[in-house]
Amino acid sequence: MQISEKTRALAREAEIALAPIFADIDEISRAGTERVLDIFREERVSEGMFAASTGYGYGDSGRDTIDRIAAKIFGAEAGFMRPSIISGTHALTIGLFALLRPGDVMLSVTGAPYDTLREVIGMDGANGDGSLADFGVEYAGVEFTPEGKIDYPAIAAALDRYGERIKVVFLQRSKGYLARPTLTVAQIGEAAAFVKAHAKHNPYVVVDNCYGEFTELTEPTAVGADLIIGSLIKNPGGGMADIGGYLCGTARAVELAGNRLCCPGVGLDAGASLGQNRNILRGLFYAPHTTAQALKTAHLAAYMFEAGGFDVLPRAMERRSDIIQTVTLHNRERLCAFCRGIQSASPVDSHVTPEPWAMPGYADEVIMAAGAFVGGASIELSADAPLREPFTVFMQGGLTYESGRLGIMAAYEEVTKM
Ligand SMILES: *Cc1c(COP(=O)(O)O)cnc(C)c1O
Repeated sequence: MQISEKTRALAREAEIALAPIFADIDEISRAGTERVLDIFREERVSEGMFAASTGYGYGDSGRDTIDRIAAKIFGAEAGFMRPSIISGTHALTIGLFALLRPGDVMLSVTGAPYDTLREVIGMDGANGDGSLADFGVEYAGVEFTPEGKIDYPAIAAALDRYGERIKVVFLQRSKGYLARPTLTVAQIGEAAAFVKAHAKHNPYVVVDNCYGEFTELTEPTAVGADLIIGSLIKNPGGGMADIGGYLCGTARAVELAGNRLCCPGVGLDAGASLGQNRNILRGLFYAPHTTAQALKTAHLAAYMFEAGGFDVLPRAMERRSDIIQTVTLHNRERLCAFCRGIQSASPVDSHVTPEPWAMPGYADEVIMAAGAFVGGASIELSADAPLREPFTVFMQGGLTYESGRLGIMAAYEEVTKM
Protein backbone atom coordinates (compact mmCIF):
# COMPACT_ATOMS: atom_id res chain seq x y z
CA MET A 1 0.00 0.00 0.00
CA GLN A 2 1.11 3.53 -0.76
CA ILE A 3 1.41 4.90 2.74
CA SER A 4 4.08 7.47 3.48
CA GLU A 5 6.58 7.12 6.31
CA LYS A 6 5.05 10.26 7.87
CA THR A 7 1.62 8.63 8.13
CA ARG A 8 3.09 5.37 9.42
CA ALA A 9 5.04 7.31 12.05
CA LEU A 10 1.87 9.07 13.21
CA ALA A 11 0.14 5.70 13.62
CA ARG A 12 3.04 4.44 15.74
CA GLU A 13 2.93 7.62 17.83
CA ALA A 14 -0.82 7.10 18.28
CA GLU A 15 -0.32 3.55 19.47
CA ILE A 16 2.15 4.68 22.13
CA ALA A 17 -0.28 7.30 23.40
CA LEU A 18 -3.23 4.90 23.21
CA ALA A 19 -1.42 2.00 24.91
CA PRO A 20 -3.24 2.35 28.27
CA ILE A 21 -6.60 2.52 26.51
CA PHE A 22 -5.76 -0.46 24.32
CA ALA A 23 -4.82 -2.36 27.48
CA ASP A 24 -8.26 -1.62 28.96
CA ILE A 25 -9.94 -2.72 25.75
CA ASP A 26 -7.97 -5.98 25.87
CA GLU A 27 -9.11 -6.47 29.44
CA ILE A 28 -12.77 -6.10 28.43
CA SER A 29 -12.18 -8.52 25.56
CA ARG A 30 -10.54 -11.05 27.91
CA ALA A 31 -13.44 -10.81 30.36
CA GLY A 32 -15.97 -11.09 27.54
CA THR A 33 -14.22 -14.14 26.11
CA GLU A 34 -14.18 -15.81 29.52
CA ARG A 35 -17.89 -15.10 29.96
CA VAL A 36 -18.70 -16.54 26.53
CA LEU A 37 -16.58 -19.65 27.05
CA ASP A 38 -18.01 -20.29 30.52
CA ILE A 39 -21.49 -20.17 29.04
CA PHE A 40 -20.52 -22.37 26.09
CA ARG A 41 -19.23 -24.94 28.61
CA GLU A 42 -22.35 -24.69 30.75
CA GLU A 43 -24.51 -25.18 27.67
CA ARG A 44 -22.32 -28.03 26.38
CA VAL A 45 -21.83 -26.59 22.92
CA SER A 46 -20.99 -29.51 20.67
CA GLU A 47 -20.53 -30.35 17.02
CA GLY A 48 -23.98 -31.93 16.66
CA MET A 49 -25.47 -28.47 17.17
CA PHE A 50 -24.00 -27.30 13.88
CA ALA A 51 -26.29 -29.63 11.90
CA ALA A 52 -28.63 -27.76 9.54
CA SER A 53 -32.31 -28.20 10.31
CA THR A 54 -34.92 -27.55 7.63
CA GLY A 55 -38.66 -27.02 7.43
CA TYR A 56 -40.23 -26.37 10.83
CA GLY A 57 -36.91 -27.07 12.48
CA TYR A 58 -38.49 -28.89 15.41
CA GLY A 59 -35.97 -30.20 17.89
CA ASP A 60 -33.06 -28.10 16.60
CA SER A 61 -30.95 -28.29 19.75
CA GLY A 62 -28.36 -25.89 18.33
CA ARG A 63 -30.99 -23.21 17.83
CA ASP A 64 -32.38 -23.66 21.34
CA THR A 65 -28.88 -23.64 22.83
CA ILE A 66 -27.98 -20.42 21.00
CA ASP A 67 -31.13 -18.78 22.39
CA ARG A 68 -30.12 -19.71 25.94
CA ILE A 69 -26.50 -18.68 25.38
CA ALA A 70 -27.58 -15.28 24.05
CA ALA A 71 -29.73 -14.68 27.13
CA LYS A 72 -26.92 -15.67 29.49
CA ILE A 73 -24.29 -13.59 27.71
CA PHE A 74 -26.49 -10.52 28.04
CA GLY A 75 -27.42 -11.27 31.65
CA ALA A 76 -31.09 -11.69 30.71
CA GLU A 77 -33.83 -14.12 31.78
CA ALA A 78 -34.55 -15.19 28.23
CA GLY A 79 -33.72 -14.40 24.66
CA PHE A 80 -33.34 -15.55 21.10
CA MET A 81 -30.72 -15.08 18.41
CA ARG A 82 -31.93 -16.23 15.03
CA PRO A 83 -30.90 -16.24 11.38
CA SER A 84 -34.52 -15.56 10.40
CA ILE A 85 -34.04 -11.98 11.60
CA ILE A 86 -32.64 -10.21 8.57
CA SER A 87 -31.35 -6.95 10.09
CA GLY A 88 -31.28 -4.69 13.11
CA THR A 89 -34.34 -2.82 11.90
CA HIS A 90 -36.20 -6.10 11.53
CA ALA A 91 -35.23 -7.12 15.07
CA LEU A 92 -36.38 -3.76 16.44
CA THR A 93 -39.64 -4.06 14.51
CA ILE A 94 -40.27 -7.47 16.05
CA GLY A 95 -39.68 -6.08 19.52
CA LEU A 96 -41.86 -2.99 19.14
CA PHE A 97 -44.79 -4.77 17.50
CA ALA A 98 -44.51 -7.51 20.12
CA LEU A 99 -45.02 -5.17 23.06
CA LEU A 100 -47.23 -2.34 21.79
CA ARG A 101 -51.02 -2.52 21.34
CA PRO A 102 -53.54 -0.07 19.88
CA GLY A 103 -53.87 2.99 22.09
CA ASP A 104 -50.45 2.48 23.67
CA VAL A 105 -47.72 5.10 23.62
CA MET A 106 -44.07 4.44 22.73
CA LEU A 107 -41.95 7.02 24.55
CA SER A 108 -38.43 7.49 23.20
CA VAL A 109 -36.28 9.19 25.83
CA THR A 110 -33.12 9.52 23.71
CA GLY A 111 -34.45 11.75 20.96
CA ALA A 112 -35.30 10.51 17.49
CA PRO A 113 -34.74 6.77 17.03
CA TYR A 114 -32.47 5.45 14.28
CA ASP A 115 -33.50 6.60 10.79
CA THR A 116 -34.90 3.30 9.61
CA LEU A 117 -37.36 3.22 12.51
CA ARG A 118 -39.19 6.33 11.29
CA GLU A 119 -41.30 4.31 8.91
CA VAL A 120 -41.67 1.41 11.33
CA ILE A 121 -43.09 3.76 13.95
CA GLY A 122 -44.94 5.85 11.38
CA MET A 123 -43.44 9.08 12.65
CA ASP A 124 -44.88 10.99 9.71
CA GLY A 125 -48.36 9.69 10.45
CA ALA A 126 -50.45 6.67 9.58
CA ASN A 127 -50.31 5.99 5.83
CA GLY A 128 -51.56 2.43 5.47
CA ASP A 129 -48.11 0.86 5.13
CA GLY A 130 -48.46 -1.12 8.34
CA SER A 131 -46.48 1.05 10.73
CA LEU A 132 -47.20 1.23 14.46
CA ALA A 133 -49.14 4.43 13.76
CA ASP A 134 -51.45 2.48 11.44
CA PHE A 135 -52.28 0.24 14.38
CA GLY A 136 -53.10 3.17 16.62
CA VAL A 137 -49.83 3.24 18.56
CA GLU A 138 -48.78 6.77 19.41
CA TYR A 139 -45.18 7.97 19.44
CA ALA A 140 -43.77 10.55 21.85
CA GLY A 141 -40.18 11.67 22.10
CA VAL A 142 -38.00 13.42 24.66
CA GLU A 143 -34.84 15.06 23.34
CA PHE A 144 -31.48 15.22 25.11
CA THR A 145 -30.72 18.43 27.02
CA PRO A 146 -28.59 20.99 25.16
CA GLU A 147 -25.61 19.58 27.13
CA GLY A 148 -26.32 16.14 25.67
CA LYS A 149 -27.67 14.61 28.88
CA ILE A 150 -30.81 12.55 29.43
CA ASP A 151 -33.55 15.06 30.28
CA TYR A 152 -35.06 13.59 33.45
CA PRO A 153 -37.53 16.40 34.18
CA ALA A 154 -38.88 16.12 30.64
CA ILE A 155 -39.14 12.33 30.97
CA ALA A 156 -41.02 12.71 34.25
CA ALA A 157 -43.41 15.16 32.59
CA ALA A 158 -44.02 12.78 29.66
CA LEU A 159 -44.58 9.85 32.01
CA ASP A 160 -47.13 11.94 33.92
CA ARG A 161 -48.80 13.23 30.77
CA TYR A 162 -49.42 9.82 29.16
CA GLY A 163 -49.59 7.75 32.36
CA GLU A 164 -50.42 4.08 31.92
CA ARG A 165 -50.75 4.47 28.15
CA ILE A 166 -46.95 4.33 27.98
CA LYS A 167 -46.19 0.68 27.32
CA VAL A 168 -42.64 1.06 25.98
CA VAL A 169 -39.93 3.44 27.08
CA PHE A 170 -37.33 3.33 24.35
CA LEU A 171 -33.62 4.13 24.51
CA GLN A 172 -31.00 4.02 21.78
CA ARG A 173 -27.57 3.25 23.21
CA SER A 174 -25.41 4.27 20.26
CA LYS A 175 -25.31 7.68 18.67
CA GLY A 176 -26.05 5.96 15.37
CA TYR A 177 -25.70 8.58 12.68
CA LEU A 178 -26.58 11.57 14.83
CA ALA A 179 -24.44 14.12 16.62
CA ARG A 180 -25.57 12.96 20.05
CA PRO A 181 -23.73 11.22 22.86
CA THR A 182 -23.58 7.44 23.15
CA LEU A 183 -25.02 6.16 26.40
CA THR A 184 -22.97 3.99 28.72
CA VAL A 185 -24.54 0.91 30.26
CA ALA A 186 -24.49 2.70 33.63
CA GLN A 187 -26.42 5.65 32.17
CA ILE A 188 -29.00 3.27 30.69
CA GLY A 189 -29.29 1.62 34.12
CA GLU A 190 -29.94 5.01 35.73
CA ALA A 191 -32.60 5.85 33.18
CA ALA A 192 -34.28 2.45 33.59
CA ALA A 193 -34.33 2.87 37.37
CA PHE A 194 -35.77 6.37 37.04
CA VAL A 195 -38.54 5.18 34.73
CA LYS A 196 -39.43 2.24 36.98
CA ALA A 197 -39.50 4.44 40.07
CA HIS A 198 -41.56 7.19 38.45
CA ALA A 199 -44.01 5.12 36.40
CA LYS A 200 -45.67 2.77 38.83
CA HIS A 201 -47.29 0.69 36.06
CA ASN A 202 -43.94 -0.84 35.04
CA PRO A 203 -43.63 -0.07 31.30
CA TYR A 204 -41.16 -2.09 29.27
CA VAL A 205 -37.75 -0.46 28.98
CA VAL A 206 -36.53 -1.36 25.49
CA VAL A 207 -32.99 -0.63 24.33
CA ASP A 208 -31.72 -0.44 20.76
CA ASN A 209 -28.35 -2.01 21.60
CA CYS A 210 -26.89 -1.89 18.06
CA TYR A 211 -23.12 -1.21 17.98
CA GLY A 212 -22.84 -1.34 21.78
CA GLU A 213 -22.45 -5.05 22.46
CA PHE A 214 -19.20 -6.16 24.15
CA THR A 215 -17.76 -2.65 24.36
CA GLU A 216 -18.28 -2.78 28.12
CA LEU A 217 -18.26 -5.54 30.73
CA THR A 218 -22.06 -5.70 31.00
CA GLU A 219 -25.09 -5.06 28.82
CA PRO A 220 -28.26 -3.02 29.52
CA THR A 221 -30.28 -6.15 30.42
CA ALA A 222 -28.03 -6.54 33.45
CA VAL A 223 -29.04 -3.08 34.71
CA GLY A 224 -32.81 -3.06 34.29
CA ALA A 225 -33.66 -3.08 30.56
CA ASP A 226 -36.62 -5.38 29.79
CA LEU A 227 -35.60 -5.99 26.21
CA ILE A 228 -32.39 -5.32 24.26
CA ILE A 229 -32.21 -5.67 20.53
CA GLY A 230 -29.40 -5.88 17.99
CA SER A 231 -28.00 -7.18 14.72
CA LEU A 232 -25.55 -10.02 14.08
CA ILE A 233 -23.81 -8.21 11.25
CA LYS A 234 -22.59 -5.78 13.88
CA ASN A 235 -20.70 -6.55 17.13
CA PRO A 236 -22.33 -9.76 18.44
CA GLY A 237 -21.89 -11.61 15.14
CA GLY A 238 -18.15 -11.23 15.59
CA GLY A 239 -17.73 -10.78 11.84
CA MET A 240 -18.62 -14.46 11.43
CA ALA A 241 -22.41 -14.47 11.27
CA ASP A 242 -23.81 -14.26 7.74
CA ILE A 243 -27.16 -12.94 8.94
CA GLY A 244 -29.24 -12.62 12.09
CA GLY A 245 -30.39 -10.59 15.03
CA TYR A 246 -31.27 -11.04 18.68
CA LEU A 247 -33.75 -9.95 21.31
CA CYS A 248 -32.99 -10.66 24.97
CA GLY A 249 -34.74 -9.59 28.14
CA THR A 250 -37.36 -10.57 30.67
CA ALA A 251 -39.21 -13.85 30.18
CA ARG A 252 -42.49 -12.10 29.34
CA ALA A 253 -41.03 -9.59 26.89
CA VAL A 254 -39.12 -12.36 25.10
CA GLU A 255 -42.19 -14.62 25.01
CA LEU A 256 -44.18 -11.85 23.33
CA ALA A 257 -41.29 -11.16 20.94
CA GLY A 258 -41.12 -14.87 20.07
CA ASN A 259 -44.84 -14.83 19.27
CA ARG A 260 -44.24 -11.92 16.96
CA LEU A 261 -41.12 -13.45 15.36
CA CYS A 262 -43.13 -16.53 14.52
CA CYS A 263 -46.74 -16.74 15.71
CA PRO A 264 -48.70 -17.13 18.94
CA GLY A 265 -48.88 -20.81 19.82
CA VAL A 266 -45.54 -21.62 18.22
CA GLY A 267 -43.31 -18.88 19.61
CA LEU A 268 -39.70 -19.92 19.82
CA ASP A 269 -40.28 -23.68 19.47
CA ALA A 270 -39.76 -23.74 15.71
CA GLY A 271 -37.61 -22.18 13.02
CA ALA A 272 -35.08 -23.98 10.86
CA SER A 273 -31.51 -22.86 11.35
CA LEU A 274 -30.57 -23.73 7.74
CA GLY A 275 -26.96 -24.36 8.69
CA GLN A 276 -26.34 -20.99 10.37
CA ASN A 277 -25.83 -22.30 13.92
CA ARG A 278 -22.12 -22.79 13.46
CA ASN A 279 -21.54 -19.25 12.16
CA ILE A 280 -23.61 -17.75 14.95
CA LEU A 281 -21.77 -19.70 17.66
CA ARG A 282 -18.42 -18.95 16.08
CA GLY A 283 -19.48 -15.30 15.89
CA LEU A 284 -20.32 -15.19 19.59
CA PHE A 285 -16.96 -16.78 20.31
CA TYR A 286 -15.22 -14.05 18.32
CA ALA A 287 -17.46 -11.14 19.30
CA PRO A 288 -15.54 -9.82 22.35
CA HIS A 289 -12.31 -9.94 20.36
CA THR A 290 -13.70 -8.52 17.13
CA THR A 291 -15.40 -5.69 19.00
CA ALA A 292 -12.05 -4.90 20.62
CA GLN A 293 -10.44 -4.71 17.16
CA ALA A 294 -13.10 -2.26 16.01
CA LEU A 295 -12.74 -0.16 19.18
CA LYS A 296 -8.97 0.11 18.73
CA THR A 297 -9.43 1.04 15.08
CA ALA A 298 -11.85 3.81 16.11
CA HIS A 299 -9.41 5.17 18.73
CA LEU A 300 -6.60 5.17 16.18
CA ALA A 301 -8.75 7.08 13.68
CA ALA A 302 -9.67 9.63 16.35
CA TYR A 303 -6.04 10.12 17.35
CA MET A 304 -4.65 10.48 13.85
CA PHE A 305 -7.33 12.81 12.53
CA GLU A 306 -7.29 14.87 15.72
CA ALA A 307 -3.54 15.23 15.23
CA GLY A 308 -4.29 16.24 11.64
CA GLY A 309 -6.43 19.12 12.91
CA PHE A 310 -9.92 17.65 12.39
CA ASP A 311 -12.80 17.51 14.84
CA VAL A 312 -13.50 13.96 15.92
CA LEU A 313 -16.19 12.42 18.09
CA PRO A 314 -15.53 10.77 20.45
CA ARG A 315 -12.10 12.26 21.16
CA ALA A 316 -9.10 9.94 20.91
CA MET A 317 -8.65 9.40 24.65
CA GLU A 318 -12.36 9.12 25.48
CA ARG A 319 -13.82 5.78 26.64
CA ARG A 320 -16.49 4.28 24.42
CA SER A 321 -19.77 2.44 24.62
CA ASP A 322 -20.12 1.86 20.88
CA ILE A 323 -17.79 1.41 17.91
CA ILE A 324 -18.75 4.48 15.86
CA GLN A 325 -16.23 7.23 15.16
CA THR A 326 -16.96 10.49 13.40
CA VAL A 327 -14.46 12.73 11.65
CA THR A 328 -15.52 16.13 10.36
CA LEU A 329 -13.75 16.86 7.09
CA HIS A 330 -15.38 20.17 6.05
CA ASN A 331 -15.54 19.58 2.31
CA ARG A 332 -16.76 17.13 -0.26
CA GLU A 333 -13.32 16.33 -1.67
CA ARG A 334 -11.83 15.34 1.67
CA LEU A 335 -14.92 13.28 2.50
CA CYS A 336 -14.60 11.34 -0.74
CA ALA A 337 -10.84 10.98 -0.18
CA PHE A 338 -11.46 9.47 3.27
CA CYS A 339 -13.87 6.92 1.82
CA ARG A 340 -11.45 6.08 -1.01
CA GLY A 341 -8.75 5.34 1.56
CA ILE A 342 -10.99 3.05 3.59
CA GLN A 343 -12.14 1.24 0.44
CA SER A 344 -8.60 0.75 -0.83
CA ALA A 345 -7.62 -1.14 2.32
CA SER A 346 -10.67 -3.43 2.29
CA PRO A 347 -10.21 -7.16 1.70
CA VAL A 348 -13.06 -7.19 -0.85
CA ASP A 349 -13.64 -4.70 -3.69
CA SER A 350 -10.44 -2.79 -2.88
CA HIS A 351 -10.18 -1.85 -6.57
CA VAL A 352 -13.51 0.00 -6.47
CA THR A 353 -13.79 3.77 -6.06
CA PRO A 354 -16.74 4.82 -3.89
CA GLU A 355 -18.82 7.63 -5.42
CA PRO A 356 -21.61 9.75 -3.92
CA TRP A 357 -25.09 8.75 -5.08
CA ALA A 358 -28.69 9.76 -4.52
CA MET A 359 -29.79 6.91 -2.27
CA PRO A 360 -33.58 6.47 -2.09
CA GLY A 361 -35.01 7.83 1.14
CA TYR A 362 -32.18 10.28 1.85
CA ALA A 363 -32.36 14.04 1.34
CA ASP A 364 -28.68 14.42 0.40
CA GLU A 365 -26.34 12.34 -1.70
CA VAL A 366 -24.61 9.63 0.30
CA ILE A 367 -21.15 8.08 -0.03
CA MET A 368 -20.26 4.69 1.40
CA ALA A 369 -17.03 2.77 1.65
CA ALA A 370 -17.34 -0.92 2.39
CA GLY A 371 -15.52 -3.96 1.19
CA ALA A 372 -16.97 -6.65 3.38
CA PHE A 373 -17.14 -10.44 3.34
CA VAL A 374 -20.76 -10.16 4.52
CA GLY A 375 -23.02 -7.78 2.60
CA GLY A 376 -23.52 -4.56 4.53
CA ALA A 377 -21.74 -5.83 7.63
CA SER A 378 -20.65 -2.79 9.59
CA ILE A 379 -18.56 -4.74 12.09
CA GLU A 380 -16.25 -4.87 9.07
CA LEU A 381 -14.38 -1.65 8.36
CA SER A 382 -16.77 0.76 6.71
CA ALA A 383 -17.48 4.46 6.41
CA ASP A 384 -20.44 6.45 5.23
CA ALA A 385 -21.62 10.01 5.08
CA PRO A 386 -24.30 12.27 3.68
CA LEU A 387 -22.79 14.95 1.43
CA ARG A 388 -23.73 17.99 3.43
CA GLU A 389 -22.12 20.50 5.78
CA PRO A 390 -19.99 19.94 7.80
CA PHE A 391 -19.06 16.82 5.81
CA THR A 392 -18.83 14.46 8.74
CA VAL A 393 -17.96 10.86 8.02
CA PHE A 394 -19.15 8.03 10.28
CA MET A 395 -16.81 5.08 10.38
CA GLN A 396 -16.91 1.82 12.26
CA GLY A 397 -15.65 -1.71 12.34
CA GLY A 398 -12.45 -3.52 11.50
CA LEU A 399 -12.34 -7.31 11.78
CA THR A 400 -8.69 -7.17 12.75
CA TYR A 401 -6.88 -4.18 14.21
CA GLU A 402 -4.07 -4.75 11.72
CA SER A 403 -6.41 -4.28 8.76
CA GLY A 404 -8.39 -1.50 10.43
CA ARG A 405 -5.12 0.31 11.03
CA LEU A 406 -4.22 0.04 7.34
CA GLY A 407 -7.61 1.45 6.40
CA ILE A 408 -7.21 4.41 8.74
CA MET A 409 -3.67 5.10 7.53
CA ALA A 410 -4.85 4.93 3.91
CA ALA A 411 -7.74 7.31 4.67
CA TYR A 412 -5.38 9.70 6.47
CA GLU A 413 -2.95 9.57 3.55
CA GLU A 414 -5.71 10.31 1.01
CA VAL A 415 -7.14 13.18 3.04
CA THR A 416 -3.86 14.88 3.92
CA LYS A 417 -2.15 14.56 0.54
CA MET A 418 -4.82 16.80 -1.05
C1 LIG B 1 -27.55 -0.27 12.50
C2 LIG B 1 -28.52 0.25 13.46
C3 LIG B 1 -29.88 -0.02 13.36
C4 LIG B 1 -30.50 -0.76 12.21
O1 LIG B 1 -29.86 -1.90 11.81
P1 LIG B 1 -29.90 -2.40 10.29
O2 LIG B 1 -29.27 -3.73 10.40
O3 LIG B 1 -29.13 -1.43 9.48
O4 LIG B 1 -31.33 -2.48 9.90
C5 LIG B 1 -30.70 0.49 14.33
N1 LIG B 1 -30.22 1.23 15.33
C6 LIG B 1 -28.92 1.54 15.45
C7 LIG B 1 -28.45 2.37 16.58
C8 LIG B 1 -28.03 1.05 14.52
O5 LIG B 1 -26.74 1.33 14.64
